[in-house]
Amino acid sequence: MPISTGQLTSAMDDLGLADRPVMVHSSLRSFGDRVDGGADALLDLFLARGCTVLVPTFSESQFGAVPPAAMRPERNAIDYAELPADAPAVQDVPEYTVDSTVVNEGMGILPARLLARPDAERGRHPLNSFAALGPQAHDLIAAQSAADVYGPLRELAGRGGAVLLMGVGLDRMTLLHHAEQASGRRLLVRWACDSGGRVFMVETGSCSEGFPRLEPVLRPLARTARVGESGWAAYPAKEVIDAARDAMCADQTVTRCADDSCLRCRDSIAGGPVGPAPLACPSLERRPRR
Ligand SMILES: [Zn+2]
Repeated sequence: MPISTGQLTSAMDDLGLADRPVMVHSSLRSFGDRVDGGADALLDLFLARGCTVLVPTFSESQFGAVPPAAMRPERNAIDYAELPADAPAVQDVPEYTVDSTVVNEGMGILPARLLARPDAERGRHPLNSFAALGPQAHDLIAAQSAADVYGPLRELAGRGGAVLLMGVGLDRMTLLHHAEQASGRRLLVRWACDSGGRVFMVETGSCSEGFPRLEPVLRPLARTARVGESGWAAYPAKEVIDAARDAMCADQTVTRCADDSCLRCRDSIAGGPVGPAPLACPSLERRPRR
């Protein structure tokens, strides 16, 4: 039996998601059976409940550039010795624009289907954009820029929004990177190119493999439901930021992953990059949709 719209809707209602903006991290495979109508039907059910759906639509591998020597902060989770020492200031890397539908494959089917909607809004960050669909989509996404990667998550929290994990764990919860920022860590710096191929710096998220270690702190905030074989957990965004921030302030090593050689954990836990910060970023404004 495929997962029915009735099952999905009642789980959304059990979790109190109606009329709220919801950051969704999902694995459709987790249901253990076909979802009736697939990812598009799921999006339509959220919209029918008055939700605004927010998803990560990251694209580092497609739009990332190699840093020129003057744009290499220390403690930035990169061994610069492995990069060419003389990377040019102008490179042959495509420019990201908000009308792009290019997204990392690992993001899953729901973000890809959301981006394919003509009324989807996508944020102005070349490597870690978010995209949204629904009544509050414009306001959430307008808060993102190349110099403010987590603006939409701040908006989500300020609007009483939720984070919904559908069959995935805390290692997928991007909001916890915003909590890292709130705990005083500086975000890692990465690089992209503008329309002229000129390299600029942007802030991006760090390692999330250790986030499940925050489970004891966050579990009391979650409401849970089950759809087929998929376990859902909905968290209030603001309370998650506050609780995770406090846990990190009390012990920065709480998010360390199991890989002792992880540079991203090592440098983020130490406070993040030191040195040149992202300054002027291109606006990456909307071009006419093709
Ligand atoms: Zn790590």
